[in-house]
Amino acid sequence: MFAMRLFEQAPLRADSLQRVELPLPEPGEGQVRIRVRTCGVCHTDLHTIEGDIHPPALPITPGHQVAGVVDALGSGVGNFSVGDRVGVPWLYRACGACEFCQRGLENLCPNALFTGFHVDGGYAEYMLAVANYVLPLPAGISDKEAAPLLCAGIVGYRSLKLADLQPGERLGLVGFGASAHLAIQVARHWGCRVYVFTRSAEHQQHALELGAEWAGASGETPPEPLDRAVIFAPSGALVPPALAALRPAGTLAINAIHTSPIPEMPYRLIYGERTLRSVANATYQDGVEFLRLAAEIPVRATVTLYPLEAANQALYDMKHSRINGEAVLQIS
Ligand SMILES: [Zn+2]
Ligand SMILES: [Zn+2]
Repeated sequence: MFAMRLFEQAPLRADSLQRVELPLPEPGEGQVRIRVRTCGVCHTDLHTIEGDIHPPALPITPGHQVAGVVDALGSGVGNFSVGDRVGVPWLYRACGACEFCQRGLENLCPNALFTGFHVDGGYAEYMLAVANYVLPLPAGISDKEAAPLLCAGIVGYRSLKLADLQPGERLGLVGFGASAHLAIQVARHWGCRVYVFTRSAEHQQHALELGAEWAGASGETPPEPLDRAVIFAPSGALVPPALAALRPAGTLAINAIHTSPIPEMPYRLIYGERTLRSVANATYQDGVEFLRLAAEIPVRATVTLYPLEAANQALYDMKHSRINGEAVLQIS
């Protein structure tokens, strides 16, 4: 089988990922083998390639928004059959035993393994996954549309929950890429009014088409104070203006695995019982809830397809904000 693999961390180049041939992996106990149909391209993949975050070992096959079909079962797998359509998210598996796993916060498990980071992911024709952490894909969501839902979508959904968003509230979305264009559809479904902050005129237009009340540049003052806000861009400089737009007792959640430093800011921006928190990964339950909701709404992902061999180009286009929505590798 073919895979696009990372051998060395460095700023993105045309050959950052190299096309290699590997033996077909055999599923072990509790694992399934998946024939990959599509795999989304995420900013986390770029952080992995460029060395912002460090996988424990190289080479590695990135990719953690995998839609595919179960192709072989390891021993002891009872929840899936060969031929089932499934999705593999960022959380590859957690330990199940630690304090966080016991609290239902396996996204914070210190022993968690992440797909395409600790173990080979979906920039490949086949991959292995742990059956208990694989998500069934609802009928009605195509492979092409499912891929972005599996990280951008699920983590965006968790961000809305961690921002304490209630039906009908005023929500700010700062940055309007892959995650925000899915989160806005959930927020609109809940009757929220959404205010979008992005430099890109194209992204502002896209936000208005998806039902945003208002779209402006980051740092602009929205027409009304916000109840909640989520930052989707990896820039700490966006935190003070986002807090300044929040009402007292409002919540700001930062959806980023890596971000530039947050500048020093006056205490009054957080005074008034405002909450500032981060969002780290997502739980299995977030995935189950979000995919169910996505099929019901239905959430529509805007995607640009690339062949597997063009993964470096897809990463380049994402890095330079040339993609409306999300880049997806079409593999089979
Ligand atoms: Zn991701
Ligand atoms: Zn754990």
